[in-house]
Amino acid sequence: MEENITDIMIKEEPKLIWRECLEIIKDNLPAITYNTWFLPIKPLEISESTLKIQVPNNFFVEWIEEHYNTLINKTIKQVLGSNGQLAYIIAEETSEPFITAAVKEESPVVKVKPAENVQTHESFLNPKYRFENFIKGENNQLARAAGVAISETPGETSFNPLFIYGGVGLGKTHLIHAIGNRILDKFPDKKVICLSSDIFTVEFVEAIQNNTVNDFSNFYKSMDVLIIDDIQFLIGKEKTQDLFFHIFNTLHQAGKQIILSSDKPPKDLKGLNERLVSRFQWGLTTDIQPPDFETRIAILKNKVETYGIILNNQILEFISQNITSNIRELEGCLIKLMANASLNSREIDFELVKKTVKEIATGRQINISIDFITKIVCEFYHVDENKVREKNRKKEVVVARQAAMYLSKIMTRSSLKTIGLHFGGRDHSTVIHAQNTIENLIESDITFRETIETIKNKIEMSVI
Ligand code: ADP
Ligand code: MG
Repeated sequence: MEENITDIMIKEEPKLIWRECLEIIKDNLPAITYNTWFLPIKPLEISESTLKIQVPNNFFVEWIEEHYNTLINKTIKQVLGSNGQLAYIIAEETSEPFITAAVKEESPVVKVKPAENVQTHESFLNPKYRFENFIKGENNQLARAAGVAISETPGETSFNPLFIYGGVGLGKTHLIHAIGNRILDKFPDKKVICLSSDIFTVEFVEAIQNNTVNDFSNFYKSMDVLIIDDIQFLIGKEKTQDLFFHIFNTLHQAGKQIILSSDKPPKDLKGLNERLVSRFQWGLTTDIQPPDFETRIAILKNKVETYGIILNNQILEFISQNITSNIRELEGCLIKLMANASLNSREIDFELVKKTVKEIATGRQINISIDFITKIVCEFYHVDENKVREKNRKKEVVVARQAAMYLSKIMTRSSLKTIGLHFGGRDHSTVIHAQNTIENLIESDITFRETIETIKNKIEMSVI
């Protein structure tokens, strides 16, 4: 069918508008920054004064928001008028369990749940995590093999539940999503759901508040495959554990597949109900170890290809020799390289690699948790920790909450979403708002800056 002129105009308009924006942006940035962060963006559509653009992943959005927010705001208003807004559509990320669209007055940037989620039901699986890009190594051999077997005949192997444990950044989340994705590829009618246990807890609390616990429980009991990430977050949450116990039993008896991940083996999950611990050991318990040198190289090669950057073997080997503890750090190194190269307008050469690896290697390898930060901040402000997580709007509570959110953002690797969840299930935009507020205060108020510095030192001192 021939397109008429109106169709063509509608199709071309976002491109034309984005091209205009790019011209302004290009004039204001070094070429490498522009090439790295703005060229990969695709304009999708325009409705009213909002231009929807597609970015490759969440990291892009966070990076752009953090570094180029002012320029982008200015540009979009210049091109589309004072109501001009941008909405990011994340191409790959579908792990978000809820829609995060929120229009904030202070920022014209809106994040929208991805449009191209092909799953038929809401599995919350991240389509990016697949077996195809999960590099096989001695470190993950058994866990991976069990995962493949389960994907062939979910619920029918003796690996039920499959319990995978290991340290941070070793591939647990990737693997369990890969299993879910493979199952859905093979059995599109199966009901698969994948979520982390802290989100499960937040939803359960909401169900209690809304008097819908039965629906909540029946919903999970109706699954064919239940995948729960980071089960250790159930520790200390008695009521959630009770409910999970019943869901577990119902599914297991019905021959439905359960897959769990954790940072520790079941027997070390102190504070978890004994009857859950014993059930977790019914199937197969297996670990993922840190990868060896060859596996690290293979993973790096795979990531380099995904990011579309070119690094020679000398560089890849250098990184693999020096960053050994976990895969997230390997990935972090590549991202840092891209970022450093773009910020300083230089190529990724060996000098830059050495500098970046050194920064990572000498950086303190400590894991500070959001809960720990919250505890120290609350002690400092003499505020009850629970109040910070509730909807309390007292001034001192708000300040403590915002400071804790801000410090969580800069001192942990947690996403905005995760941080929001730790503060009573607040939206990611609330976290951005807190971050902006604290940053402004730090700039304008020297006493406040010192206060935040003091708290930060306290946190750092306490974890050494
Ligand atoms: P964990 O859940 O154990 O903390 P993740 O699954 O989040 O770790 O993995 C951290 C990062 O490393 C992810 O981006 C993931 O894609 C990547 N990764 C982990 N293991 C592998 C692997 N075997 N092959 C390729 N990428 C991996
Ligand atoms: Mg994980």
